[in-house]
Amino acid sequence: MRILIVEDEEKIAHSISETLMQMGFVPEHAADGEDGWFRGSTEDYSAAILDIGLPKLDGLSVLRNWRKENIGFPVILLTAKGSWMERVDGIDAGADDYLVKPFHMEELVARLRALLRRDGAEKKTQLVAGPLVLDTKQMRVSVDSVPIKVTPLEYRALNFLMHNRGRVVSQEELATNIYFQDQEPDSNAIEVMLGRLRRKLKADVILTRRGFGYMIEDEEGAA
Ligand code: CA
Repeated sequence: MRILIVEDEEKIAHSISETLMQMGFVPEHAADGEDGWFRGSTEDYSAAILDIGLPKLDGLSVLRNWRKENIGFPVILLTAKGSWMERVDGIDAGADDYLVKPFHMEELVARLRALLRRDGAEKKTQLVAGPLVLDTKQMRVSVDSVPIKVTPLEYRALNFLMHNRGRVVSQEELATNIYFQDQEPDSNAIEVMLGRLRRKLKADVILTRRGFGYMIEDEEGAA
């Protein structure tokens, strides 16, 4: 899943990126408001982490612009300590959540995971499709309760498909959501990776829709 980070402080941006990568996300970074606005308007992201104090264009304006353009991905605002006005303005501008700097990375990841769940009201960190269970907190995969060892790339693929259960995901969309910016995947590599993953899962959960893409069906597990 691609996550946009709009943050001008290099150190913070770097540690958010590193954390998100470790947690199986694909982070992309914009260092100023104009670049952040542009990327959010022109590319698909599952969520954005947006600093308020930014050069060129402040974070609240970026957020208002996105919402005016009907760009609806969830946004977590990063606000300065003690600035309650910013938080009020942020919610008004269309933010889904906010974090006060300095914050713990664990908290950021927990909030992000909550926003990415379709059933946000539930406290589930496990996504279920038939015999397949993906635990987004433990980053574990199991089929019929048997743990399956997957590579980071395979995990990112499962994570994206599971968050989009019931929808056909094109190969291009899958690629942009599992490879990092500096990687150049070819379509054959994705086929090979999915073939390997299917063999590991030993269950027919990742379906191919010829000419359209891939899908995990939206069915709750029997257990
Ligand atoms: Ca800043």
